[in-house]
Amino acid sequence: MQNGKMPYQPKQTPISSLGEFKLIEHLTRPFSHQQVSTLKGVGDDAAVIHINDHHAMVVSTDLLVEGIHFDLMYTPLKHLGYKAVVVNLSDIYAMNATPRQITVSIAISSRFTVEALDELYEGIAAACQRYKVDLVGGDTSSTLKGMVISVTAIGDAHPAQITYRNQAQIGDAICLSGDLGSAYLGLQILEREKRIFLDNPAAQPDLEEQSYLIGRQLKPEARHDIVALLAKHRIKPTAMIDVSDGLSSDLLHICTQSGIGCRIIEEYIPVHTDTLEVSAQFQLPPITCMLNGGEDYELLFTVSPQDATYIEQNLYGIAIIGHTVPADEGYTIISRGGNEHRLSAQGWKHL
Ligand code: ADP
Ligand code: MG
Repeated sequence: MQNGKMPYQPKQTPISSLGEFKLIEHLTRPFSHQQVSTLKGVGDDAAVIHINDHHAMVVSTDLLVEGIHFDLMYTPLKHLGYKAVVVNLSDIYAMNATPRQITVSIAISSRFTVEALDELYEGIAAACQRYKVDLVGGDTSSTLKGMVISVTAIGDAHPAQITYRNQAQIGDAICLSGDLGSAYLGLQILEREKRIFLDNPAAQPDLEEQSYLIGRQLKPEARHDIVALLAKHRIKPTAMIDVSDGLSSDLLHICTQSGIGCRIIEEYIPVHTDTLEVSAQFQLPPITCMLNGGEDYELLFTVSPQDATYIEQNLYGIAIIGHTVPADEGYTIISRGGNEHRLSAQGWKHL
């Protein structure tokens, strides 16, 4: 202290006081679009760029950091490469668009060998093959420690076919493409086996029995089949998102951006028998894994009541889990016991 005055102290706000979504909003708020071709910027699964009356380009990017998003103790590099691509393609499908190209950037430490990176790229190639996308570029750099992978996916769609998060209407049906909670439990199993192995390196993990859950975690697929099925039957969702953060968080993105509420029914949310069995082992309510687990990469979308009737009567593999309501009715889940709970991004709170 000088002359009795306090030294100048710039404001130091911890990132944790905002959380991921508020941080993104805080950082991007000052930006306004300067290009008329920018049809959608920050805030959806992918950005949308006008090309011509028949084509819009969609772009999505993701960053995977070793120790945060993946653990190489139980993640084979081939699977990692595959997953890094698939999670980006999932964002393109969530716009009702078709992915065409990817770029892949990696930063690696000297701990990785050429053979290890070959394995990573085998996985990337397998995903490119399966989803018919081309690897067209990227960047390679180094880290002091650990691996970082960033994939950018580029796709296209007819501008009128693109589905945004903010276009759901009151009275729409809420649809889901597959079961939830399995990828999260796959991760819990892998973490448990890692702890057992670290305690006793002679222990041989038996993961065969849980191949469904572990597969959902290590080698997810993007639901291009659902996008194709809806297109074949000429159904355009009013809003769509992929379930990467958990049903609660992702359904709330649709609701808040569309200015509506929702009412979903626990009993109608598909769950795999392995999820029920293993969640009991971990003493976790299955609904908690389903609502908050994340990484399922299923498609969550809303459709008009007419389209919902058509889906119910004609399409297999899409569950209708509830419907949208006016905003002032809030976000509700009806439990199996018939009780109403408020849905929130952190979990579900008792009324
Ligand atoms: P998703 O889970 O679908 O991959 P995210 O939650 O990662 O989407 O991102 C939400 C939105 O915020 C997207 O539009 C994304 O492009 C944007 N975004 C995320 N991080 C940043 C950043 N650092 N700067 C600008 N935009 C960002
Ligand atoms: Mg997404």
